[in-house]
Amino acid sequence: MTETLHIVGGGMAGSEAAWQAAEAGVPVVIHEMRPKVETFAHRTGNLAEMVCSNSFRSDDHEQNAVGLLHWEMRHAGGLVMREAAAHRLPAGGALAVDRDPFSQSVTDALRAHPNVSISGEEITALPEDGRWIIATGPLTSDALGRAIAAETGAEALAFFDAIAPIVYAESIDMDVAWLQSRYDKGETEEERKAYINCPMTKPEYEAFIDALLAADKAEFHEGETAGYFDGCLPIEVMAERGRETLRHGPMKPIGLTNSHKPEEKAYAVVQLRRDNALGTLYNIVGFQTKMKYGAQTEVFRMIPGLQNASFARLGGIHRNTFLNSPTLLDNQMRLRSKPHIRFAGQITGVEGYVESCAMGLAAGRMAAAEILGRTLPPIPQDTAHGALIHHITGGAEARTFQPMNVNFGLFRPVDGLKGGRRGRKDRYKAYTDRAKQDWSAWVASQEVPA
Ligand SMILES: Cc1cc2nc3c(=O)[nH]c(=O)nc-3n(C[C@H](O)[C@H](O)[C@H](O)COP(=O)(O)OP(=O)(O)OC[C@H]3O[C@@H](n4cnc5c(N)ncnc54)[C@H](O)[C@@H]3O)c2cc1C
Repeated sequence: MTETLHIVGGGMAGSEAAWQAAEAGVPVVIHEMRPKVETFAHRTGNLAEMVCSNSFRSDDHEQNAVGLLHWEMRHAGGLVMREAAAHRLPAGGALAVDRDPFSQSVTDALRAHPNVSISGEEITALPEDGRWIIATGPLTSDALGRAIAAETGAEALAFFDAIAPIVYAESIDMDVAWLQSRYDKGETEEERKAYINCPMTKPEYEAFIDALLAADKAEFHEGETAGYFDGCLPIEVMAERGRETLRHGPMKPIGLTNSHKPEEKAYAVVQLRRDNALGTLYNIVGFQTKMKYGAQTEVFRMIPGLQNASFARLGGIHRNTFLNSPTLLDNQMRLRSKPHIRFAGQITGVEGYVESCAMGLAAGRMAAAEILGRTLPPIPQDTAHGALIHHITGGAEARTFQPMNVNFGLFRPVDGLKGGRRGRKDRYKAYTDRAKQDWSAWVASQEVPA
């Protein structure tokens, strides 16, 4: 008899993982605690409930990395994308859906599948045997969160994210900014130049503080703030505590000399730190924020050197349970210390419905292949799925790991193409063409001849 795959959590990731494994012929049990145990964000007992926006974001699979993930999931027979198409609402280039019929039909499809059963219970401990995928998402129940922390070490499991904005390196104006670590610290030239620094004069700093104080901010959800606020205050809250607070905190100018104007002492300095091994992404150090997205782009482009910045992701602070995946998971998304347990979805350190669902698709296929004794070729790194998995299980800096959206900054360059903003359209098309080719070959490699 084929071994059963147990999936904890029937959200975006758990639902897709269950579908993929069931379609491959593996019996699946989904353990979903709702509606018996509720979260502060879910409203129904349905699987694949969208907790906030009803959009799967851009559907442009030639010029957008999220659209490419859509394409890849459709091409692999994804359930979530199939039902999203069936319940699509007009939304320009975005894939928006009628949320309740959408999640109802995902639930119905899984209930009707002969290989799937659904068990309405909260899992409170890490299972000692069997084959499992944990896909309990950003609002993993407290008991299971504690059990995971006991296994991984408390410092390797976060209960909230405090995301500083991430900027595409190519969009930073290096005629204004310069490379230097504070006090030139570091053993190697690379370490001594590990940060990008953006200088501010006094009037620029004052205008920046005014804009921060005036910017539109998002509210916290009820139950979201408990206990996590002290270690990482949003920059606008620091600014509210005093106009000079930031200049003595993340924007302090000491130990830095502007290589373009060595004789001028900056009044404040914004630092950016490398965010991935490829060196294509930089995060703005200490700039976690609750400003609304529109306000963030406006305010952050006031920083000299970032006047034309393109953002791979904007900042935020949310309740979010996620693992330090680069240290804890292998490239098959298995917990290194207990390889019979895989993780999928937002808990692995991706961010968003689409990314979570994609990690469910990958984990479902990986687990099914393992159970069926088939060799699954590695997911190609140059696909959107592969780029994300590579990032969370190895490409990202483990020390500063924060949840990540899919974006082209995670992709390896295509040889012979121009960098910079001018060649962007051609470059994105080359990324998506390459990804589609590799993904099609990967999916075809698993098709069992009839
Ligand atoms: C308040 C909020 C707003 C968000 N808004 C957006 C948005 O607008 N757009 C976007 O793209 N992303 C948004 N996200 C992120 C979004 O939740 C995730 O991207 C996505 O739903 C994650 O998918 P998942 O499958 O990993 O988790 P989920 O979809 O949350 O699914 C996890 C499931 O596990 C269940 N569960 C938890 N613990 C247990 C347990 N111990 N035993 C059994 N079942 C359990 C939960 O009930 C849930 O059904 C938001 C997140 C939050 C918290």
